[in-house]
Amino acid sequence: MTAPTGRAGRWVVVLGVLLAGLAVGWFSWLASGADQPGPPSGSSPTAQLTPGAPGTRSSPPAPAAPPVPAQGTPLAGITVALDPGHNGANGRNPREVGALVPDGRGGRKACNTAGTSTDAGYAEHAFAWDVTSRTAAVLEASGARVVLTRADDDGVGPCVDVRGAFAQDAGADVLVSVHANGSDDRSARGFFAIVADPPPEVEQAPQAREANAAASGDLSGELVTALVAAGFTPSAQHQDGISRRADLATLNLAERPAVLLELGEMRNAEEAAVMSSEEGRQRYADAIAAGLTAWAAGRG
Ligand SMILES: [Zn+2]
Repeated sequence: MTAPTGRAGRWVVVLGVLLAGLAVGWFSWLASGADQPGPPSGSSPTAQLTPGAPGTRSSPPAPAAPPVPAQGTPLAGITVALDPGHNGANGRNPREVGALVPDGRGGRKACNTAGTSTDAGYAEHAFAWDVTSRTAAVLEASGARVVLTRADDDGVGPCVDVRGAFAQDAGADVLVSVHANGSDDRSARGFFAIVADPPPEVEQAPQAREANAAASGDLSGELVTALVAAGFTPSAQHQDGISRRADLATLNLAERPAVLLELGEMRNAEEAAVMSSEEGRQRYADAIAAGLTAWAAGRG
């Protein structure tokens, strides 16, 4: 399968382009008044010639230079992991959903749950899926790469431990989990953001763990601010709209900044009406994207 002529040919091409690169560098050196000892950084011919990772000889050549981010893409270079809570077939698969998985604090808890719904039957999993999909579209328009913990709204799981580790497993910078609450008290209303507290005992160095907890706190603040700016009411049950909990595996197992959003009360008639409308869900999505964008800008 090895083709010596192919390999030799490749090196001829490499040598040729190297020489061309050196010539370009030499001319730019002349033109620059000789205050730089070579071609400007970023245009190194060797950087453009990297033939790919080992074992990928047959892969197509990489583009000559990375695309310049267009204006209006404040999230370029950031990967956001979104987690639409629950899943459409969870309710029909109680055994699978009830299996115990690690909770990220040394204990175990159910893989997942069916979630709640409005009195009219609009399910939390469908709401979470729709808001998350809309959020992904807004984030992508701002230049972000977006990865989702589930591919559709028709399946089972994934389990909460998988959702929690998803951000680091998918190479994401941040994790936002989208839910809605189902308090028995129909007068209860308002959204809140949840962060893991105390900082979860993930397998990170203590310093990284502390930095992660601080970044999660910042993210929760930005999300609350953006949701308030969009006209949503924070829950009066939690100071500043932020709840601190130790029992959520989705947050406990995240080695990236992570926030779980309860966007409102599905059994509150007024909030259920907003959640059941496309306009309402788009408003939630725009607010979540705005909060993430503000957080990313503040990371420096
Ligand atoms: Zn939920």
